[in-house]
Amino acid sequence: MLKSRWFRSLRITVLLITLFVVAMNAWLSSARIQSWSRPVWVVLYPINADGRADTQAYINALSEEHFEDVERFLQREAHRYGLVGQSIAEVFLSTPLVALPPEIDIEAGVFESIFWSLKMRWWSWKNDNWPGPEPDVRIYLQYFSPQKKQVLSHSLGLQKGMIGLVNGFASVDYIATNNFVITHELMHTFGASDKYDLETNEPIYPDGFADPQQRPLLPQVRAEIMGGRVKVSPGWLVMPLSLDDVVVGDKTADEIGWLSM
Ligand SMILES: [Zn+2]
Repeated sequence: MLKSRWFRSLRITVLLITLFVVAMNAWLSSARIQSWSRPVWVVLYPINADGRADTQAYINALSEEHFEDVERFLQREAHRYGLVGQSIAEVFLSTPLVALPPEIDIEAGVFESIFWSLKMRWWSWKNDNWPGPEPDVRIYLQYFSPQKKQVLSHSLGLQKGMIGLVNGFASVDYIATNNFVITHELMHTFGASDKYDLETNEPIYPDGFADPQQRPLLPQVRAEIMGGRVKVSPGWLVMPLSLDDVVVGDKTADEIGWLSM
């Protein structure tokens, strides 16, 4: 009886210490990123998520050039907020990973989410194959063949953990969309919050709109990166075609420290 109680306290203590270390680490990383004193190093890890040969062929043909839009977008938007003459992020592509990351239920509660994020960190540490310097942010790209008709589950970005998990289709037709999703999740790791309704996907006014001052308000023609969709008319939402049609709004810029520069 006494022994089992002792074990329970020990287990709780270990868990609390782990959570404390993880929280401190995350706080330090975000403080460092938000100072924008040097480029954020982002490493992308492609994963063949459905094990298909066509998915693998696509992954094998990937190069860093396919992700240049992400760097260009961040540079352009940071420039609008007065961050001039410094590079915002450098995006590198690692060799494909064979292991699949732990799964998460999108309906997961707080405890499952915390547990999953710890498992994800552990998995990430164990499977890291990046030979270069320690990345600031790791984004795992789970590719699925577009030939197998399916709805992809949500991508996510862990602000506390500097890890993103992106689900995308393995096709050149989806490069622009994938880059948009990668950038959205990357912004989460920088400290940005979602600005759309999680039930309806509607961007939230005003912060989720690219042009909230526009009159008439609709149709919008661009998306805010954390708003996610372009609201054309009531009930009509579209994904932006590429990052050329996306902006970083003031609220997002504030959250990632661009307004205090
Ligand atoms: Zn999001």
